[in-house]
Amino acid sequence: MSEQKEKRAQTSGKCQLCNETFSKQAMSRHLKSCIEKSASPKSATDRKAKAADTFLLSVEGRYLPHYWMHLEARTEATLRDIDELLRHVWLECCGHLSAFTINAKRYDVVREDDSWGFMGEEEEVEGMDVSLDDTLAPGQKIDYEYDFGTTTDLTLKVISRQASRPLKKPVEILARNEDPQIPCDYCGAPAKKICSYCVFEGGGWVCNKCKRKHKCEEEAFLAVVNSPRTGMCAYEG
Ligand SMILES: [Zn+2]
Ligand SMILES: [Zn+2]
Ligand SMILES: [Zn+2]
Ligand SMILES: [Zn+2]
Repeated sequence: MSEQKEKRAQTSGKCQLCNETFSKQAMSRHLKSCIEKSASPKSATDRKAKAADTFLLSVEGRYLPHYWMHLEARTEATLRDIDELLRHVWLECCGHLSAFTINAKRYDVVREDDSWGFMGEEEEVEGMDVSLDDTLAPGQKIDYEYDFGTTTDLTLKVISRQASRPLKKPVEILARNEDPQIPCDYCGAPAKKICSYCVFEGGGWVCNKCKRKHKCEEEAFLAVVNSPRTGMCAYEG
């Protein structure tokens, strides 16, 4: 993991509301005011649409924080809506299980057979069809896991709850890190492939030219994608 850390670039991203570029930290501050501005209707048509409260959330790779997003969600959106967005944009490879943990309570994908549980009996488990309004408050930290084997761990934070414009979807992406451009282990050019066997040791990033220098078998290589799941299981975006 140490080699991986050295390669961590401070990634920036673009605000989808105003098109300006900010670092992750600056983006959290910026979006609060940018959402506020979006809530004050400028045109007569906008004025007809009723402004509603939304949650502003940040999400990042727990061990790979240069992968991050800022999400805006309707207060009546559910944890399942967030799960679906995370799977769609960042995670889904083979339909693995996932879970949120909020205040030591676990919100799991609902299983047909509840008796098939690998979590401790004492642990409180609920489904994901709960509204954000009932589960979240500003300042809260949320842990999320996708795939309990080759796990991708994410950390979400509730940045704020504010008046906003009406959202088109239950959860929208307001900003996302630009491609971190991780260098090839051999020549430093942007890596195009990642070895799924060596990714956990922080190595195995190769460009197409240097791929043959890496000793692992052909099946080990996955395309490098802009996601905290890059190089894991069968994930190629
Ligand atoms: Zn903006
Ligand atoms: Zn998978
Ligand atoms: Zn190379
Ligand atoms: Zn390898």
